[in-house]
Amino acid sequence: MKTKQIESILLILLMTLLPLSMSGQTDIRQNERIPRPFDDITKWTNKTIMWVGPHQDDESGSLGTLSLLKANGNKIIMVWYTTGNKGSRDLEMTSERLAQIRKEESIKACGEMGITPEEDTFVWLGYDDGMLEYVPEQELCEKVCRLIRLYRPNAVFSMDPGTTWMQWHKTDHRMSAFVTLDAARAAAYHLYFPHHRINEGLQPYTVTEYFFYSTKESNFEVDITAVSDKKIRSRAWYVSQFGAGNFKYVGPEPDQENLINQLSSNTERIAKGEKVTEKFRRLTESMSF
Ligand SMILES: [Zn+2]
Repeated sequence: MKTKQIESILLILLMTLLPLSMSGQTDIRQNERIPRPFDDITKWTNKTIMWVGPHQDDESGSLGTLSLLKANGNKIIMVWYTTGNKGSRDLEMTSERLAQIRKEESIKACGEMGITPEEDTFVWLGYDDGMLEYVPEQELCEKVCRLIRLYRPNAVFSMDPGTTWMQWHKTDHRMSAFVTLDAARAAAYHLYFPHHRINEGLQPYTVTEYFFYSTKESNFEVDITAVSDKKIRSRAWYVSQFGAGNFKYVGPEPDQENLINQLSSNTERIAKGEKVTEKFRRLTESMSF
């Protein structure tokens, strides 16, 4: 008898709570931001694309996609936070010389992909490598916010800050990931850094497309097979970064033997039908809420 009573009480409770929980679910769905379906970025034309990152070479993982965009008549804005002036193990190297080498390597690597300071826009914010964590965040946020208001990009490429959980990155990378997104948010509201509007007439701007690189949560890939040879040639220009050149700088010319080997492996892979891709976490919505 007691069991039956308990069963009845439980049933009444369930009947009472069920509509509540269902209406709760409906409310949550109504409040969800529904992302737009992804379109084919390789078909984009006449747009402005801003790539933002900490070091010369961090652009490398996006250069295939950026080069396809450039070939379609889109304008590319490249922004580097640091000069990359610390990451050499060559005891003969100085920070000043390294900064110059890194800049030249990056220009050559981008140039190999058809992106040049003459036709596009290269912005060097000039901070010391490895020290971005110790620059006031507001200063970094203000600078990138201004660039976003000035160039009004249809899409921003940024190091991935992560979704629900912060993504771990090494120094400079983590600052670049978070500050770039903070700057994009600030750009949407005229009361952040109001002197941009008052002094320069730069109006608020809302970014609605993000391509996060160096991501562990990729949901979008771009087939860059057509430019994969170029990308290998492009990557070879970072002589002071990769391989022996990091221990003893031997540039500026790339190691030709290594380059030829990489190109022939790539040809073999493509002949087998393999695709070369670049992966991103893509977000087609405003993060300015
Ligand atoms: Zn880096």
